[in-house]
Amino acid sequence: MVDLISQYEKIKPAIDEAIFSVIQNAQFINGPEVTGFQSEFESYLGIKHVIPCANGTDALQIAMMSLGLKPGDEIITPSFTYIATTEVMALLGLTPIFVDVDPHTFCLDPSKIEAAITKNTKAIVPVHLYGQAADMNKIMAIAEKHKLYVIEDNAQAIGSDYHLDNGSVVKTGTIGHIGCTSFFPSKNLGCYGDGGAMCTNDDALAEKIRMIANHGQSKRYYHDMVGCNSRLDSIQAAVLRIKLRQLDNYIDARRNVADYYDGILGSIKGVSIPFRAHDSKHVFHQYTLKLEGIDRNGLNEYLASKEIPSMIYYPVPAHRQKMFAHFGSDTTNLPVTDELTSIVISLPIHTEMQDEQLELITSEIIEFIQKK
Ligand SMILES: *Cc1c(COP(=O)(O)O)cnc(C)c1O
Repeated sequence: MVDLISQYEKIKPAIDEAIFSVIQNAQFINGPEVTGFQSEFESYLGIKHVIPCANGTDALQIAMMSLGLKPGDEIITPSFTYIATTEVMALLGLTPIFVDVDPHTFCLDPSKIEAAITKNTKAIVPVHLYGQAADMNKIMAIAEKHKLYVIEDNAQAIGSDYHLDNGSVVKTGTIGHIGCTSFFPSKNLGCYGDGGAMCTNDDALAEKIRMIANHGQSKRYYHDMVGCNSRLDSIQAAVLRIKLRQLDNYIDARRNVADYYDGILGSIKGVSIPFRAHDSKHVFHQYTLKLEGIDRNGLNEYLASKEIPSMIYYPVPAHRQKMFAHFGSDTTNLPVTDELTSIVISLPIHTEMQDEQLELITSEIIEFIQKK
């Protein structure tokens, strides 16, 4: 699905030097690489504060902790996402209220949000799934009307441009009150281990987030609130500084792969290529097809037999996980989510794909469909 070795080969001298220099300076925790990455990432995103942390799941957890919510408070979120988004809500005693997704964008359907709002609703957590931004213009309007916080799960869409209704173009993750991202190696901006970050334009929230990520500490050995220990280590920060300079090239490479797939697969009956919303730039963390009248699992197995990887993201949506069984049936009426889990399939997409690989993958897909 990804080829991190070929990608490394192209930036090897810079990466090796950066990692070696962290080791030589023995500044493994905090230090100049972390602050350097933080300010470079702030400029890239066009945001006031970036707070790095240990991984994307922590980023979501700390962001939610910073809002001062109490057990039983409700958060509107999609079920069609990676489990981390909703798991941290349950961990904090908050109640995820699953709202269905749009069948085209695969992201939270704004037209279904207001019906799910109650007096206990405190926040909306949209996920920019597969690299396609959720409809933030509509989501922010609803949040403002009902005075709700918005935390963007931007783990899959880092670098995506979004056109706001006011005419300005901003990065996803900078639109809500807090944006969260992950630097897991296979993410569009991935490090060589675990990493994550939160970002916000709100000074007070930034200070609180920083404290929570550092044992709730206001000054050394003075702990004002219960926090956790979540840091981006210096080696990962050093890697990210180098890869951040490549991020826009990486996005272009992914979009070129998507264009190729679109061109070949777009005209096949029963195959829906990924939707590209007019108000945002799809950054193709995944290239995900919808198949109608085509045996999805059969194609997955056929490709595997030809040594071509393909993946089902996500075979079981959050509302059908045992983890959430106790939340009851009122949050389980999600027909689009249920339908998508049985018809989506993601193809290999990464920054180093070769034409021959794309030709092979697409011709095997056509072979499978025509045989039927
Ligand atoms: C990867 C991912 C996360 C979690 O990130 P980790 O760094 O693995 O903890 C959260 N949400 C989404 C949508 C993701 O894709």
